[in-house]
Amino acid sequence: MNKTLRGVAIIGAGTAGALAANQLSAAGLDCCIVEKSRGLGGRCSRRRVLDYISVDIGAPHFSIPFDEHPILIANMNQWLRSGYLTEWLFTTGEFESQSLPVKKIELCGTPSMNAFHRHLAAGVDCLTQRHVHKLSRVNNYWQLLDQQGQLIVEAKAVIVTAPAEQTYNLVALHDLMSKGHQPGQHDLINNPVLSAAEASLPQYICAVTFDQPQTQLLDLYCGEHPVFSKAIRANSKFNHSNSMDHQTPEVWILHSTHSWAQQQQHKDAQSVAEDMARLFCQHFNTSQAKVITSHYWRLANHDHKAIKRSFEGHKPENQPFIWNNTLKLGCCADWLAGGGVAGALSSSQHLCNHITSQLTQEV
Ligand SMILES: Cc1cc2nc3c(=O)[nH]c(=O)nc-3n(C[C@H](O)[C@H](O)[C@H](O)COP(=O)(O)OP(=O)(O)OC[C@H]3O[C@@H](n4cnc5c(N)ncnc54)[C@H](O)[C@@H]3O)c2cc1C
Repeated sequence: MNKTLRGVAIIGAGTAGALAANQLSAAGLDCCIVEKSRGLGGRCSRRRVLDYISVDIGAPHFSIPFDEHPILIANMNQWLRSGYLTEWLFTTGEFESQSLPVKKIELCGTPSMNAFHRHLAAGVDCLTQRHVHKLSRVNNYWQLLDQQGQLIVEAKAVIVTAPAEQTYNLVALHDLMSKGHQPGQHDLINNPVLSAAEASLPQYICAVTFDQPQTQLLDLYCGEHPVFSKAIRANSKFNHSNSMDHQTPEVWILHSTHSWAQQQQHKDAQSVAEDMARLFCQHFNTSQAKVITSHYWRLANHDHKAIKRSFEGHKPENQPFIWNNTLKLGCCADWLAGGGVAGALSSSQHLCNHITSQLTQEV
């Protein structure tokens, strides 16, 4: 076999892509992942700060509903037993409320969220820093092409796990149509032109450090606040995974609300982060915090009408993925299943269950 010809090419090494690689390769399929950034994790990425610790600058934790797919629940239990996921016990309260703190448990990767992704995709070839710019159908195979039109890899089946607007650009299938197919005949989605502004929402995130432990604060704050959607004492997660000792300075991760982020978009990321640090300290009346890293994200706006309309006629309402068996082309991602890490896992698990037996016979 030509070494660039694979059974299944998975575009994206985030949660949905890593789980698809895990499930399909376990079923014996020849898979590879093509990822545009430097590593695995997608929006569960981490960043090294203070030279010696890493913090989650994407999703910090998640939970799986009890009524999720039984295979996913069984896998979750297995990953917990193996130590790739851990139960994080934390105290939490609301920014604006004086109500008593509660204790909660959520799941997180150890020592960081993307370590879980590295485990899922272990043993699967992952071509990083390769941006798939175009999908082209040639002789019943898919060619994944980069911006210069160079072939990255050729595959019999393709699964796209990118965020909505990037997926829409890839699966628009203009190329297919120009080769004589009738528009609509092979579409995966209606109206594939979707702007980033429609499909996603902005969010700023920053990590700040304090000289002194803020023992008066809980581990996590959420709830109504004009600036913050969430604030997390990162040390409470590190301590849990035993990767930090008591001498490590206290690190907090601050997440903005979408509406506040929207108002800040004319400013540079560093000054937005400085504002967040200042407003956090003011809110809790703490000593000054120092910004150590910041990031600007766009999150899937899965509730958007344009996204919902685009599925009509292409998938049953409750099906959390898209698959066209004639084309051997499909999509799974958080935006197809209600958002979040749980949505990405659910979408990917359902797609894999749907296609594994077909693909093992045909690919
Ligand atoms: C700041 C922040 C906080 C969050 N908090 C939470 C939380 O508390 N709980 C929760 O459950 N969720 C949370 N989320 C959401 C969660 O991170 C996402 O829902 C989930 O990670 C999405 O996974 P995914 O696989 O669908 O997409 P992604 O993680 O976005 O993965 C898609 C991958 O595809 C790659 N890609 C895209 N286009 C191409 C291309 N053309 N070629 C090659 N590669 C491509 C991308 O680089 C990316 O790695 C948060 C997200 C952020 C950013």
